[in-house]
Amino acid sequence: MHKHTPTGYIDDVQQYRQSPQTSRMVHHWLDPIWQRVPFPYAPKLIVKSHGNVDQITMARTYWGRALMQVHCYRVGDTLIDTGLSCLSEQLLDYVLRCGVRQAWITHHHEDHSGNAAALRRAGIRVMASQKTAHILSYDYPIPFYEHLVWGRSHPALVSPLEPTTTEVSIGNRRGIVISARGHCPDQVAFYVPDEGWLFSGDAFLHEQVRLFRRDEDFWDTLKTMETFLTLDFDALWCGHRPRLNRGKYAITQKRDWLIQLSEEAKDLHQKGLPFNEIAARMKLGSGGFFWLSAGDASGTNLVRSILTGPLVRPEHQRCAALL
Ligand SMILES: [Zn+2]
Repeated sequence: MHKHTPTGYIDDVQQYRQSPQTSRMVHHWLDPIWQRVPFPYAPKLIVKSHGNVDQITMARTYWGRALMQVHCYRVGDTLIDTGLSCLSEQLLDYVLRCGVRQAWITHHHEDHSGNAAALRRAGIRVMASQKTAHILSYDYPIPFYEHLVWGRSHPALVSPLEPTTTEVSIGNRRGIVISARGHCPDQVAFYVPDEGWLFSGDAFLHEQVRLFRRDEDFWDTLKTMETFLTLDFDALWCGHRPRLNRGKYAITQKRDWLIQLSEEAKDLHQKGLPFNEIAARMKLGSGGFFWLSAGDASGTNLVRSILTGPLVRPEHQRCAALL
């Protein structure tokens, strides 16, 4: 069991150094190099208030263009997700000014967990699901494009949520923890029934998704949409494309789109087409993120996930056993 200490970050790194090493794919040996590359970005942090919810938008901008910006949210003393590590100074300045005392992380991806270690160092309690906490305790390598777009998260020992805990405090309101697997195996969402809010991490992303990363689970994603549709909410506080109203309708559209995709993919599969040909016929996989990620996010991954399930990300070999 990990020991929690107020000094956080330094102990977290020591914990990482003691963790067992296993073989890594060749390109992961390049990870220490990417960590040192001085990417020519300008960090951007903008706060926009929507009544009782602050939307904190963070991105790296290259030549004036923001790449895959992410939204974190603040409700009273609670931060939901922690954003990019390159913006830790600006984020800490904001959260300390606003009296934030706790932060919830929806999932381990570095655009959501990037400041977990920095917040802990500042004395803010950082919490996540057990699976997310487990992954964040490792210093796992990330691909080149993730270094370019978001930058890595430092390993952090965050407080794991007991599996029996279903209710948490979100700015002194009752928040219900909802399993939101699919986008990744550790994701949770936070539902605030009294306000009709759903903080969904990356469970939604778009009504008509056309790309999956290799570890995204299609059928878990569909199940998560069905679970969301049993909840009573209007504002969908998504990590990348929030829907301030009619959020439940957006989830209905995504659910229907996923069902349509699965039927088309199965039909084409029965005709004996390979996954990449099926993706091409269904016009999946196009778009900027496909090129930016060098194909790590692709339509073929989406088709494969429908027909045979997701693959384990190589960087998660060491922590996959608990996912
Ligand atoms: Zn994500």
